[in-house]
Amino acid sequence: MSSIVAIVGRPNVGKSTFFNRLIQRREAIVDSVSGVTRDRHYGKTDWNGRGFSVIDTGGYVIGSEDVFEAEIDKQVELAIEEADAIIFMVDVETGVTPMDEDVANLLRRVNKPVFLAVNKVDNAKRLENAVEFYSLGLGEYFPIASTNGSGTGELLDALVEAL
Ligand code: GDP
Ligand code: MG
Repeated sequence: MSSIVAIVGRPNVGKSTFFNRLIQRREAIVDSVSGVTRDRHYGKTDWNGRGFSVIDTGGYVIGSEDVFEAEIDKQVELAIEEADAIIFMVDVETGVTPMDEDVANLLRRVNKPVFLAVNKVDNAKRLENAVEFYSLGLGEYFPIASTNGSGTGELLDALVEAL
């Protein structure tokens, strides 16, 4: 059975952009089950000859701030259950947010490989700014730009190594 990699993180950090880059022309299967699994996209990809499935999480219910956060927590818990490895994506443009800290708290307790991807690192200034994500307590991070693919090779090398 192929390994499953889940991409988690708050909305707008670039999860779907990265997912689409990963699966390229391959087709994503949209899971139409309602509830927390809504809008989870499943795709297949491979890197360095190693095939794996990838889940793009989303489908958050936007209501009060509390509901919003609870919904992300559910996505993270689901990912922890079903995935063999997790990519936690954050956004250097906004920097560390309380929601990022909340997700990091859940992921720090997980006994599965977690890869912190700092996205939107499009220039040298942003590469400098990315260091603030050490404060999440998840160790080393991967600076990437999902739009142009910069840094994604290093992330995928480490990821498939852990599968
Ligand atoms: P999601 O909600 O986490 O799935 O985020 P999306 O993939 O929908 O992206 C949210 C926004 O961030 C879009 O406008 C993307 O074009 C933008 N975005 C994604 N990756 C990058 C990146 O590497 N650099 C920049 N500057 N913008 C990006
Ligand atoms: Mg998305």
